[in-house]
Amino acid sequence: MAKIILSPDRLMALFNCPACGYGHRIPVKPHEKGWDWNGDVDRPTFSPSILLRGHGSRNPKTEEYVDLPTCHSFVTDGMIAFCGDCGHEMAGKTVPLPDIITDSQ
Ligand SMILES: [Zn+2]
Repeated sequence: MAKIILSPDRLMALFNCPACGYGHRIPVKPHEKGWDWNGDVDRPTFSPSILLRGHGSRNPKTEEYVDLPTCHSFVTDGMIAFCGDCGHEMAGKTVPLPDIITDSQ
């Protein structure tokens, strides 16, 4: 099962963060500021680490804007490892990325 969704131009990747409960979207190469990605949607690896600080997200269902805690992770082989500096309760834990459901495909 896919863990990430790519934008149509394949320059943005979206995954559901099990700690934040929201999707995180990052640019991937060949985007000029993109992360390295192993090209695998089922067992993705991104490098370097993904640090989201002072960020927010819009709930896709309610359109409500929420502030999210600092989220710092390494995504490796479909697993997400949260660093100790995360502001959420999954700091220091490693869990599988949840399967991502696409209703556009
Ligand atoms: Zn997160």
